[in-house]
Amino acid sequence: MGLLIKNAIIVDKDKIHIKEQDILLENGIISKIAPSLDKGSHEVVDAKGKKVLPGLIDIHVHFRQPGREDKETIETGSRAAVRGGFTTVMCMPNTTPVTDNAQIVSFIINEGKRVGLCNVIPIGAITRGQKDGELVDMYEMKEAGCIALSDDGKSVVNSRLMYLAMQYSKMVDLLLIEHCQDPLLTSGGVMNEGFVSTELGLKGDPGVAETAIVARDIEIAKYLDGRVHLCHMSLKRCVELIRVAKSQGIKVTAEVCPHHFTLTDEAVREFDTAAKMNPPLRSQEDIDAIKEGLKDGTIDCIVTDHAPHTVEDKEAGFDQAPFGIIGLETSLGLTIAELVAPGVLTLPQMVDKMSSAPARIVGLKNKGEIKEGKDADITIIDPDKEWTFTKEDIASKSKNTPFIGRKLKGTVEYTIFGGKIVYQSAK
Ligand SMILES: [Zn+2]
Repeated sequence: MGLLIKNAIIVDKDKIHIKEQDILLENGIISKIAPSLDKGSHEVVDAKGKKVLPGLIDIHVHFRQPGREDKETIETGSRAAVRGGFTTVMCMPNTTPVTDNAQIVSFIINEGKRVGLCNVIPIGAITRGQKDGELVDMYEMKEAGCIALSDDGKSVVNSRLMYLAMQYSKMVDLLLIEHCQDPLLTSGGVMNEGFVSTELGLKGDPGVAETAIVARDIEIAKYLDGRVHLCHMSLKRCVELIRVAKSQGIKVTAEVCPHHFTLTDEAVREFDTAAKMNPPLRSQEDIDAIKEGLKDGTIDCIVTDHAPHTVEDKEAGFDQAPFGIIGLETSLGLTIAELVAPGVLTLPQMVDKMSSAPARIVGLKNKGEIKEGKDADITIIDPDKEWTFTKEDIASKSKNTPFIGRKLKGTVEYTIFGGKIVYQSAK
């Protein structure tokens, strides 16, 4: 017995299909798409009036397991993911201990499968213990199931190591993902350096800490004909650097988080530590440039950087509180409200940024598309429905978000993973 989606208006990265289709999911794959399929003994989902998207893919989350299960576990993180319409998530390696060996990689893969709500793919560290001293055994990481490596949470500051990492990762075909921030240049900054930081008397993080690493990695990639994916771009200058690099054929891709196209550093006044993240919230000029970058393809994809922290941790003073916010439950609603509704992106472009492009970047060949033979990962949304985000909408174990009370647009109606309904809206 399979799952039959009736009356589906499919949205893929290229267009909104005009004619309704029926989609049959069997044995974990999309087995048939046709204008009308017989109900037979299949379970039926009626998608009438909704939009049917390839399952959303987030290649940048922090699920905190192993080590900080008080903040999030693979199970609670998976619940937040499917609540937000995501069928695949990739977990950053800044766990405790760091995900830098086959044993931890296997643990995360197995725990993700045991939970079984979505596809959980661990990202391995680039350097052992994320200590910026020596490279991990890339071959071992690849064998264990990694498709990408990152020291996210911090940069690989040692340029020689990054150079070698790009050389070796090319040989073993692993994607390198860089968190761009030179700690010697941020020198303890806790928010964007600007008027607000001066007024609040908080130490500012100047953008050059981010752009310097972006420029360095682009240059190394050019020299080695290597490849690098740049995390959570927050600045106009980053967009400019990447745009030029791409025009010269350098193999660089980039991501942005919803908070970086939604909020400026003014939010720090209002929301206190819920608006403390890394990289920090920047200026309106940066937001405008990021939107332009998304529109013209300079920025390839949207990720959440879902970073759960406990209330106690976030209640520390602004200087002490950890960086980061949760984001899985608000990503779609913010993207439609801030980008699709105002006409920055079309719905198909959004599908590209949130599903097809991430699949291409990390090499998930059977995901990010609704076609016969592809994985049966599907997100059914109502893109027109407006709603207000409340604490009750959070499935994550942590509640650190500046978006409580915010008006969002677009609801997740069903999340289907491997041909099974893993989330259904109660609204
Ligand atoms: Zn990061």
